[in-house]
Amino acid sequence: MGKLEHKSDLLESLTNICNEKNIHLGRLEVIGAVIKARLGYYNQNEKEYNFIEIDKKMEITSLIGNISLKDGKPIVHAHINLSDSTGNVIGGHLATGTIVFASEFVIQTFDGANFSRGLDNITKLPLWTE
Ligand code: ZN
Repeated sequence: MGKLEHKSDLLESLTNICNEKNIHLGRLEVIGAVIKARLGYYNQNEKEYNFIEIDKKMEITSLIGNISLKDGKPIVHAHINLSDSTGNVIGGHLATGTIVFASEFVIQTFDGANFSRGLDNITKLPLWTE
């Protein structure tokens, strides 16, 4: 458990922690607040991510994700819900460009075989291959 640095990039900070602590299998949760956000939406027809940038201060009402390996390195895959000053919630695939105001994380690590990501031919996403 820990807190993330003010004005750090949320996804990069979580990935750095996994690299520093050698975490390659696990789950994570984050609550807190962001200064702005960048979310991905996977366009299933075009097979590519569209990115949504929201230049607003928001609460992280929930973030859940997992940690596995891609090209031998830890990769964080997380989805996030954010609420604005009126309580409206938006969400999506957490992308770089989401900036921390204050955040607390919990990472739970697992023992066991590695999960590795590789290109899935049907979805064109980097899904688990093992
Ligand atoms: Zn995703």
